[in-house]
Amino acid sequence: MQKEPFNRALLEFLDVSVTPFHATAAMKKTLVSAAFKELHEDKPWNLKEGEKYFVTRNDASIVAFTYPKQRKGYVMIGAHTDSPCLKLKPNPVLKQCGLLQLGVAPYGGLLMNPWFDRDLSLAGRVSFMNEAGELCEEYIDFKEPIAVIPSLAIHLDKEANKNRSVNAQTDLVPIVTCNTEITLERLLFSQLKEPSPTQLLSHELSFYDAQHAAFIGLEQEFIASARLDNLLSCYVATRVLCNVSNNDAFLMVCSDHEEVGSESTSGAAGSFLESVLKRISGDFESYTCLMRRSLMVSCDNAHAVHPNFSDKHDANHAPQINQGVVVKVNANQRYASSSRGVSAFVHAAARIHEPTQTFVTRSDLGCGSTIGPITATRLGVETLDVGLPTYAMHSIRELAGSDDAWSLYNILRELKR
Ligand code: ZN
Repeated sequence: MQKEPFNRALLEFLDVSVTPFHATAAMKKTLVSAAFKELHEDKPWNLKEGEKYFVTRNDASIVAFTYPKQRKGYVMIGAHTDSPCLKLKPNPVLKQCGLLQLGVAPYGGLLMNPWFDRDLSLAGRVSFMNEAGELCEEYIDFKEPIAVIPSLAIHLDKEANKNRSVNAQTDLVPIVTCNTEITLERLLFSQLKEPSPTQLLSHELSFYDAQHAAFIGLEQEFIASARLDNLLSCYVATRVLCNVSNNDAFLMVCSDHEEVGSESTSGAAGSFLESVLKRISGDFESYTCLMRRSLMVSCDNAHAVHPNFSDKHDANHAPQINQGVVVKVNANQRYASSSRGVSAFVHAAARIHEPTQTFVTRSDLGCGSTIGPITATRLGVETLDVGLPTYAMHSIRELAGSDDAWSLYNILRELKR
């Protein structure tokens, strides 16, 4: 695969992956087209050497792996499918000032200000009863912009440019229509394939920016999109799995709920990956040996040094866009990287002449975390944290470099155990 088609397919992936459900479906599709076979957690597995498999949980997390004859240790690539967003409340309908609005709850560490004045669409999972009285489930995506959160005009808030704070309960309520007669049921049922839904039972929907991913910059140096954190890594991981030999032991895990702490059935702190690895291993002895011989590369975005705010970085650990994958180190284990894991990664990069950079947060600033330390704790597997330099993390539209994803893809493939 070449860099140009790789990046074009990345943009397509970003556009269709509007929720963790849609991201998982998109990865599934790519894996199926590369001859991966689907497994189901609730059925017995009969793995055959030389085959490749994937399995999902809650349709929002996915594990894919090769199953070679020689399985001394796996190169595991970890990422997350979720991104900060506005989730629809169970009873969201609000009517005021001649408008119908839908109440939302912020999901994850959302940068709220950028959500004003964007063209918003809605997607996710809908559960309903059909005419036959059966419980049905569908994934929907309005695709078109159907909502907006207008800013308050500066004339009504003279202090707006000083320090406008956002009240998540009252300020961030999307406006959907002037037709206050529309019910939530009617709105959601309009998107279903099922011709005769009778009752809405439950939903898990979120708003997203309808603007498509795009190359930006005089020489298209940048990729601008929603959800770069962490769909960039999900995409790279999927491409790696699809392009390694059947004789190499590779695994990827893309989990939901990282942005809210990973503690859920499908989150990285849950049992999903561990139970897959135990089924791959067969018995406890093999499982323990496999964990001690494997390497987990937790891939999540890294803060690139911002020219307008460069003092927010430690000068010696200030990653730049398009200057290579960032290895993330934290003295207090907010990142899982040890010198052993780091050296394995940097060694692979050096072999193929790919540059790397290092990020350490300023000692007077707090540090975010990733699925890295959680997975290391749960499995006892050597883990390191890496990521692609990114601006505006957790904004509705983030920015990354158009060279870096390709570079990560090449280094990961080089990381054979
Ligand atoms: Zn992330």
